[in-house]
Amino acid sequence: MLLLTCPCCGVTAEETEFSPGGEAHLKRFGPGSSDDDYETYMFQRKNPRGVHFERWRHAYGCGKWFLAARDTMTLEVFGTYPAQTTEPPPEIIAKIKQKRPEWEGFK
Ligand SMILES: [Zn+2]
Repeated sequence: MLLLTCPCCGVTAEETEFSPGGEAHLKRFGPGSSDDDYETYMFQRKNPRGVHFERWRHAYGCGKWFLAARDTMTLEVFGTYPAQTTEPPPEIIAKIKQKRPEWEGFK
């Protein structure tokens, strides 16, 4: 069972109360960028076995979007944080490195 805590309203609930929104921290490319960069932004997604950063929406709660860091194999959640964050907070990175020393880091 995947339990997530919404950072907007503080409610902890099962994943059925939330809607997944795909990979977090996608890098957008503006006008003048190459076709490869645009294709990467539009279609290429990570599908890691392990640490992953994702977008979620509290669909049956406050309705707000937020981001979560979790392990896709164990469903362990390392933390959730506001959707306006451009990269994972240092405390979540430190928690992941503590529990997963082999993790290669956020890219
Ligand atoms: Zn909420």
